[in-house]
Amino acid sequence: MIIYGWRSSHIKTLQSKNITCPNCHEKGGIENSFYGKYFHFFWIPTFSLGKKGASRCVKCNHIYEPKHMPENIDRQFREMKSEVRLPFWHFSGLIIIAFLSIAIAFSSTI
Ligand SMILES: [Zn+2]
Repeated sequence: MIIYGWRSSHIKTLQSKNITCPNCHEKGGIENSFYGKYFHFFWIPTFSLGKKGASRCVKCNHIYEPKHMPENIDRQFREMKSEVRLPFWHFSGLIIIAFLSIAIAFSSTI
Protein backbone atom coordinates (compact mmCIF):
# COMPACT_ATOMS: atom_id res chain seq x y z
CA MET A 1 0.00 0.00 0.00
CA ILE A 2 1.45 3.31 -1.08
CA ILE A 3 0.39 6.13 1.23
CA TYR A 4 2.52 8.85 -0.28
CA GLY A 5 4.08 9.74 -3.61
CA TRP A 6 3.30 11.95 -6.55
CA ARG A 7 0.57 12.09 -9.11
CA SER A 8 -0.42 14.42 -11.90
CA SER A 9 -3.71 15.78 -13.07
CA HIS A 10 -4.75 17.45 -16.28
CA ILE A 11 -5.13 21.23 -15.88
CA LYS A 12 -5.89 22.60 -19.30
CA THR A 13 -5.53 22.06 -23.04
CA LEU A 14 -5.08 25.14 -25.22
CA GLN A 15 -5.06 25.39 -28.99
CA SER A 16 -2.36 27.27 -30.91
CA LYS A 17 -4.09 29.08 -33.76
CA ASN A 18 -1.40 30.41 -36.08
CA ILE A 19 1.24 27.74 -35.84
CA THR A 20 2.09 25.42 -38.69
CA CYS A 21 3.01 21.85 -37.79
CA PRO A 22 6.57 21.16 -39.03
CA ASN A 23 5.66 17.50 -39.51
CA CYS A 24 2.53 17.70 -41.70
CA HIS A 25 2.59 21.45 -42.60
CA GLU A 26 -1.05 21.93 -41.52
CA LYS A 27 -1.90 25.21 -39.81
CA GLY A 28 -3.82 25.62 -36.56
CA GLY A 29 -3.78 22.04 -35.36
CA ILE A 30 -1.34 22.30 -32.48
CA GLU A 31 -2.81 21.49 -29.07
CA ASN A 32 -0.91 22.24 -25.85
CA SER A 33 -1.82 20.14 -22.83
CA PHE A 34 -0.70 21.04 -19.33
CA TYR A 35 -0.52 18.85 -16.27
CA GLY A 36 0.15 19.65 -12.64
CA LYS A 37 2.33 17.29 -10.66
CA TYR A 38 1.74 17.13 -6.92
CA PHE A 39 2.94 15.28 -3.86
CA HIS A 40 0.24 13.39 -2.00
CA PHE A 41 0.22 12.02 1.52
CA PHE A 42 -2.59 9.56 2.32
CA TRP A 43 -3.99 10.49 -1.12
CA ILE A 44 -4.41 14.13 -0.05
CA PRO A 45 -2.59 16.47 -2.45
CA THR A 46 -0.13 18.26 -0.18
CA PHE A 47 2.00 20.53 -2.32
CA SER A 48 2.60 21.16 -5.97
CA LEU A 49 5.66 19.93 -7.85
CA GLY A 50 5.07 22.24 -10.80
CA LYS A 51 3.59 22.12 -14.25
CA LYS A 52 4.54 20.03 -17.23
CA GLY A 53 3.06 19.40 -20.61
CA ALA A 54 3.51 18.72 -24.29
CA SER A 55 2.18 19.84 -27.65
CA ARG A 56 0.42 17.59 -30.11
CA CYS A 57 -0.68 18.09 -33.67
CA VAL A 58 -4.32 17.01 -33.99
CA LYS A 59 -3.95 16.49 -37.75
CA CYS A 60 -0.98 14.10 -37.82
CA ASN A 61 -0.86 13.15 -34.10
CA HIS A 62 2.81 14.10 -33.81
CA ILE A 63 3.83 14.87 -30.22
CA TYR A 64 6.32 17.62 -29.45
CA GLU A 65 8.02 17.20 -26.07
CA PRO A 66 9.27 20.45 -24.45
CA LYS A 67 12.97 19.57 -24.95
CA HIS A 68 12.54 18.81 -28.65
CA MET A 69 10.08 21.50 -29.72
CA PRO A 70 10.64 23.58 -32.82
CA GLU A 71 11.22 27.23 -31.89
CA ASN A 72 7.77 28.55 -32.95
CA ILE A 73 5.88 25.86 -31.00
CA ASP A 74 8.19 26.23 -28.00
CA ARG A 75 7.63 30.00 -27.74
CA GLN A 76 3.83 29.70 -27.64
CA PHE A 77 4.00 26.66 -25.36
CA ARG A 78 6.06 28.64 -22.80
CA GLU A 79 3.69 31.63 -22.99
CA MET A 80 0.65 29.41 -22.39
CA LYS A 81 2.43 27.49 -19.63
CA SER A 82 3.07 30.70 -17.70
CA GLU A 83 -0.62 31.66 -18.00
CA VAL A 84 -1.98 28.29 -16.83
CA ARG A 85 -2.62 28.34 -13.09
CA LEU A 86 -2.24 25.37 -10.78
CA PRO A 87 -5.55 24.28 -9.22
CA PHE A 88 -5.78 25.27 -5.54
CA TRP A 89 -6.70 21.72 -4.51
CA HIS A 90 -3.11 20.67 -5.30
CA PHE A 91 -2.33 22.52 -2.06
CA SER A 92 -5.16 20.94 0.01
CA GLY A 93 -2.69 19.37 2.46
CA LEU A 94 -0.97 22.70 3.12
CA ILE A 95 -4.35 24.39 3.65
CA ILE A 96 -5.37 21.62 6.10
CA ILE A 97 -2.01 21.92 7.96
CA ALA A 98 -2.35 25.74 8.12
CA PHE A 99 -5.92 25.42 9.38
CA LEU A 100 -4.94 22.82 12.02
CA SER A 101 -1.97 24.95 13.21
CA ILE A 102 -4.26 27.95 13.64
CA ALA A 103 -6.84 25.80 15.44
CA ILE A 104 -4.17 24.33 17.78
CA ALA A 105 -2.60 27.75 18.43
CA PHE A 106 -6.02 29.25 19.10
CA SER A 107 -7.19 26.42 21.40
CA SER A 108 -3.95 26.49 23.47
CA THR A 109 -4.46 30.18 24.32
CA ILE A 110 -7.82 29.47 25.97
ZN1 LIG B 1 0.99 17.73 -37.93
